[in-house]
Amino acid sequence: MKVRVAIIGGSGLYKLLEKAEHVILDTPFGKTPRIDIGYFGGVRVAFLARHAMPGSMKVAHEVPPHRINFRANIYGLKKLGAEAIIATSACGSLRRELEPGDFVIIDQFIDMTKSRTYTFYDGTTTPKELLGVDKEDLVVHIDVTEPYCPTLRRILIEACKKVGVKYHERGCYVCTEGPRFETPAEIRFFSAIGADVVGMTNVPEVILARELNIHYATIAVVTNYAAGLQRKVTQEEVIEIFNRSMKKLVKVLEEAVRNIPGKFTCECDKAVH
Ligand SMILES: [Zn+2]
Repeated sequence: MKVRVAIIGGSGLYKLLEKAEHVILDTPFGKTPRIDIGYFGGVRVAFLARHAMPGSMKVAHEVPPHRINFRANIYGLKKLGAEAIIATSACGSLRRELEPGDFVIIDQFIDMTKSRTYTFYDGTTTPKELLGVDKEDLVVHIDVTEPYCPTLRRILIEACKKVGVKYHERGCYVCTEGPRFETPAEIRFFSAIGADVVGMTNVPEVILARELNIHYATIAVVTNYAAGLQRKVTQEEVIEIFNRSMKKLVKVLEEAVRNIPGKFTCECDKAVH
């Protein structure tokens, strides 16, 4: 049985479903971590913890951002039938008005990663082989004018309103390589080029989802001010703020998955055709 809706949990969100079946999938790109399949908000969903170890039934924060096998994760969810993915992400704020605990519905990204495999189409695989569509090109350029699904973004915004959390309708996410946090000089630079929040995982996840024609959006939780805007950034603080926001986040996700339409009118599912 196919699972249309998937949720990717970032730092702090390792378990979402109470009762679930567990699967680990083999993909041409490697094994996925454990994926939980069950009901959430009355909807059948697949849940994947981004930082969990591939091939392991244990789910914990074990894989650093630059070592995540994003291709196996996204391809695995596609294999399960995922048409829509809502991803969660902890992020640092570059703007005073984006306060710790706030939610941000990301609408743009800037890629400052260095060592990642950020495409399925690296000159050896065709869309026909990967997606079964009638396209045999070895070179594929996808459009990312609107990198995050407008339908899912609207649903997340409505869900934030309904649950009554403090949120921001847009935000530009700069993705760094990590695993270290940023220097104040880097943060000043990112801020000057238009970034609002900083994190280490949204790229290439968002790109890979689009390359497989999946509707994808990210709800980010601000866990701290970035370097230079506060005294120091610690991992403990990131997790602590995230945990405090967890209940609200789960409510927003529940509300959102209930409102995912049976048929989408946006073009994300025609990115490669
Ligand atoms: Zn879409």
